[in-house]
Amino acid sequence: MAASAPTVRDIRDLALAEIEELVIAAGERSFRAKQIASWLWIASWLWRRRAGSFDEMRELPLALRQFLKQNFKIGSLPLAHLARAADGTRKLLIRLADGEQIESVIIPTEGRVTLCISSQAGCAMGCTFCATALMGLHRNLGTAEILGQVIAARRQLGEEEALTNYVFMGMGEPLANYPRLSRTLDAMTAEWGMGISPRRITVSTVGLVPMMERLLTDFQVNLAVSLHATTDALRDRLAPINKRYPLAELIGACRALPMQRRRRIMFEYVMLDGVNDSADDARRLSKLLAPLRAKVNLIFFNPFSGSSFKPSPRARVEDFQAILHRGNLTATIRESRGQDIAAACGQLYAAQRGAGEKQTSRDSSPRGLRTE
Ligand code: SAH
Repeated sequence: MAASAPTVRDIRDLALAEIEELVIAAGERSFRAKQIASWLWIASWLWRRRAGSFDEMRELPLALRQFLKQNFKIGSLPLAHLARAADGTRKLLIRLADGEQIESVIIPTEGRVTLCISSQAGCAMGCTFCATALMGLHRNLGTAEILGQVIAARRQLGEEEALTNYVFMGMGEPLANYPRLSRTLDAMTAEWGMGISPRRITVSTVGLVPMMERLLTDFQVNLAVSLHATTDALRDRLAPINKRYPLAELIGACRALPMQRRRRIMFEYVMLDGVNDSADDARRLSKLLAPLRAKVNLIFFNPFSGSSFKPSPRARVEDFQAILHRGNLTATIRESRGQDIAAACGQLYAAQRGAGEKQTSRDSSPRGLRTE
């Protein structure tokens, strides 16, 4: 495990109620806390101009400002590197205070700009086709570090561009970091926070069954489940968490989830050549998901060095999709984005290794990256 958190806490690690408590303890009335919370957001705009500090919170009494200054910091995540792909995808490499590196990816598609967010440095889930799994888990990200990715991404966008969708599909397993994730979702969706509609947020999980229910009880966000296999034997091999929560339990839990009306669970399915992409697999998948309000997202596997898996050929992915459609299952094919900057799913760690030397130099980026 990497070094623990610094002594002065980032104020954005705290929930609103905690800020309130501290402010009351410091002798302030609670409405001041609400003011601070809105200031947190306003301050994030100031960070675009790199000027966030408690000193700028001029509405607050001096004593309170001093109190906050002594006890907290307002962190901002330093951008170590920015890479832009030919298709407009941008990858933000962020170096955290303890030297850990994480990545967020801005993905513009027709009418949308999606931010792919990391929830952990590394990951403990050990999925065998995922580059991040090779790192193992270094540590959970704090709320301020997760939220900071949104702020850092917004800072990158021009006036005419705005983030429209947020997906927790970067590094890590978000439901394995639920205490920090839930605070992040609070701050993202609350009016005192960023005021983002939960419909625009998708949390992707490898299938941590007990936490799935918790998430959908607490938040009206979209859920994506990384499925990838239709038999326990294969899923055990691809996503070892399946040994703890086998398919029948996972699907059973999905049936029982407190779902909003007309919402569907998205099942992600990485297409691996000769492994999980046969016509039989497609038919089994239709059957498996038949009892659910589900949609399937077929993902092209992104190869990385050291992996023996290969992506399924496009024709096979399309045949697979056609079988799902015949089984009355909605299925989309996710085109791989930002490939020239290794920004695609599951490649974040591979990309870091590839770019390992560039930590001290901005000019040594591989494969013709345009850096800014
Ligand atoms: N831990 C969460 C979220 C992070 S992974 C989860 O498992 O859902 C986000 C998505 O990327 C998952 O569906 C994952 O299976 C997929 N993924 C991981 N490695 C990949 C690779 N090399 N190619 C394509 N998709 C990959």
